[in-house]
Amino acid sequence: MSESPPDSEPPEKEPIPSVLHSFYEDRPFVSCTRCGESLKDFEDGFRISKNFKKDEVIIEYALCMPCLNSMLDEASEESKQRLAEFQAEHYREVSGFNDCALCPKEFDQVKDAEYGLVGVCHGDFMVDSAMICHGCMEAMSEIMSEETRRTWDRFREENFPGVPSDFEPFPARPAPSVI
Ligand SMILES: [Zn+2]
Ligand SMILES: [Zn+2]
Repeated sequence: MSESPPDSEPPEKEPIPSVLHSFYEDRPFVSCTRCGESLKDFEDGFRISKNFKKDEVIIEYALCMPCLNSMLDEASEESKQRLAEFQAEHYREVSGFNDCALCPKEFDQVKDAEYGLVGVCHGDFMVDSAMICHGCMEAMSEIMSEETRRTWDRFREENFPGVPSDFEPFPARPAPSVI
């Protein structure tokens, strides 16, 4: 999972790349991290998020769309509003893992620090993907309200007991076109 930077510019539909497989289970994700249901059963698909520090996987999870949406719904109105504004302002028309979805940084510039990779998947296929650099994750974290941060903290504590609480929250909508 550590070797090469993932491919950019996914065609419309491609098999889920190995960089988005579960590092801990050493295979593709099969169930939702939150509800445990089989990911393939969700017609609306699911979203895989993995955060790296250099080559190391810091955290990884796959959320079915209902779980993802309910997590997003739990965000305060204020956070939703601010995130939407932030993303409307910064979102770039890029896809794939080579360019940050929210700023002009490229993978080569961020690969020695922390960064996040996101894939929107349907069954065995990935239909959209994004990379978010550490700076942009921080920026989004800063505009979220305490309350919203607590929702993510709870998710993290329930699902990843070992993970430090200062771990960055994941982007709420890195791929607005699909969510
Ligand atoms: Zn779920
Ligand atoms: Zn960025």
